[in-house]
Amino acid sequence: MHNPYSFKNRGKHLFQNLLFQLSLTLLNLVFLGLQLQWIAWLNQHHLGLLHWMDWPYWVKLVLGVILYDLSTYWIHRASHQFPLLWKFHRVHHSDTHMDSSTTFRFHPLEIILVYQTGNVLTAALFGTDMTSLSLYYLILYVFFFLEHSNLNYPNWLNHTFGLVLVMPDHHRVHHHKDQRYTDSNFADIFILWDGIFRTFKWVTVKKEDLGLEEFDFENKQSFLFLMKSPFLSLNQDESKMKNKDLPQED
Ligand SMILES: [Zn+2]
Ligand SMILES: [Zn+2]
Repeated sequence: MHNPYSFKNRGKHLFQNLLFQLSLTLLNLVFLGLQLQWIAWLNQHHLGLLHWMDWPYWVKLVLGVILYDLSTYWIHRASHQFPLLWKFHRVHHSDTHMDSSTTFRFHPLEIILVYQTGNVLTAALFGTDMTSLSLYYLILYVFFFLEHSNLNYPNWLNHTFGLVLVMPDHHRVHHHKDQRYTDSNFADIFILWDGIFRTFKWVTVKKEDLGLEEFDFENKQSFLFLMKSPFLSLNQDESKMKNKDLPQED
């Protein structure tokens, strides 16, 4: 019997998710440099709100991290709202066996075309710099590894740090198959954004609740299928077909 939680299948799962990181790294040999050049140009020309403020650098650094997280919240929320963006973003949500390696499962074109462009626009608007962007990504990756982990952690953290920061239980709600929960808890570091903009939801999530109905087939969990999935039309009818034991599509 297929057990997705066995060590062998976890290894295969990790390998598939690492292929996303590998493809992003290859594309970033070109695109990361472009993004940083744009931000450097904006900074050199003193464009953006923070350049008008006579504040100590460390304040601007902390604000930079907060502002990158705020704009990522809105980009993420838009990725759930607009069908074209969702076609790419659903690759991240497709993982029915979420663990820390889901951190890597993003369509590389989403990261480059949507998030990297968003970072440049954030720098143009707020005057945030590359150091705060690097610090933001450093913190973001630590949060992502924890948020997607399949480990249990003490519940008191939800009622203390979880009032301000994103906890794994918050992000598991975001990975719930039920669209009412998928479209909530968009924040990456500060859960405050979901509280302020009224997108916070709370529900107990079981392992079998994770993923998306339309990807709940073993052949739709492979790297190659997921890479081409934004260009395919998939809908939730396929999962209904599965429930009725009708033949599955390739
Ligand atoms: Zn999402
Ligand atoms: Zn996630």
